[in-house]
Amino acid sequence: MGIDHVREVIKNCRFCFMCRHACPTFLATKLDSHTPRGYALMLSEISDGIRDWTDDFVKKFYQCSQCGLCREDCEFHWPEDELVRHAREDIVEKNREPQKVKNVLQSIQVTGSPFGNDSDNKLNSRPENQHHPEIVYFPGCSTRYYHPEIISATENMLEHCRVSWMRMENEECCGMPLYDLGYTQEAKQQAKKTYDKLVEIHPRIILTGCPHCLRNFREIYPNWQLSFPKDIQILHVSQFLQEKILDRSLIFHHKVSLKSVSYHDPCQLGRKLGIFDAPRFVVRDIVGQAPTELFHSREKAECCGAGSIQFFIDSELSQKIVKVRMNSVLEEKSQVLITACQNCKTVFQSFIEKDFPSMQVMDIVELANLEFEGGE
Ligand code: SF4
Ligand code: SF4
Repeated sequence: MGIDHVREVIKNCRFCFMCRHACPTFLATKLDSHTPRGYALMLSEISDGIRDWTDDFVKKFYQCSQCGLCREDCEFHWPEDELVRHAREDIVEKNREPQKVKNVLQSIQVTGSPFGNDSDNKLNSRPENQHHPEIVYFPGCSTRYYHPEIISATENMLEHCRVSWMRMENEECCGMPLYDLGYTQEAKQQAKKTYDKLVEIHPRIILTGCPHCLRNFREIYPNWQLSFPKDIQILHVSQFLQEKILDRSLIFHHKVSLKSVSYHDPCQLGRKLGIFDAPRFVVRDIVGQAPTELFHSREKAECCGAGSIQFFIDSELSQKIVKVRMNSVLEEKSQVLITACQNCKTVFQSFIEKDFPSMQVMDIVELANLEFEGGE
């Protein structure tokens, strides 16, 4: 049972509220049941057999964005995000997950993507690159479905680097959303499909702009005996851009003149994978100045509200969370907000378009493309 893995966390968190102020879900809803302590108390009642999963309890456990900020804020680094994920395994085992969560599983099993079919998924790699390409570019499901402009920008960047690259034919979900939502067995099966295809191609680099796919390939797959061979590098697009700038394959001439740029650290890329410097290096090299730091940044960056595909499962909550994060962004009065995760872009964009049309949100690879296109 999922809960058995986290009994120590339950014992320690249920009487403590030291990270209450950090939880983005709590800050958005002001409900104590949406705090690490609230989750631990509910789970303690369930594991002691005092209560069973009610619809309300279940809903609360699917409203955690898995951002990990509580763990960062905790003196003892208790993995509260893991507590929630293991609780979801228990919910799934009892077949109590919400219909919207069940739909994600069903959609992946039928279409290979949590969001259903997308026209881009039929896109094939260029024939001349199908054998032994240097790079396989793996955009991931939400980029394919919601952000074709990020795909075009990445492909354009690869062309500028003059490398041999390809996309996988009929790319499927890497399995991360299933893992996050408590479908661990199904996530492993999905992971195996993607892993086998990538290993068969055996590129030198697997490149993705999605921090969720990146973390899955690097950290979660090895837990399932799906480690990639050591001669395959797994890189985020910001790391790839940094490498290309350092080896002078890409030279930016600061044609992009933006008055003020801020950078938002995506939770999975920053806090969970420790990639903070590469995106800052790239932004600085492109615009000629370091991005301004938001009030909470790097390890302490607040979630944008997209985590754990919240933007898809509970968009109302997601919009409340991004509103909190936008307080830090607006304080900087920046013209452009850069991020390095397509899901962050989704929620920031919908908020900014509605209330702050003079601001722009961009993925880091789109910023690079501004220069390729001659600057702005
Ligand atoms: S994660 Fe740490 S700070 Fe937060 S409730 Fe648990 S023990 Fe307290
Ligand atoms: S992982 Fe994030 S949303 Fe979930 S309890 Fe911790 S701080 Fe709150």
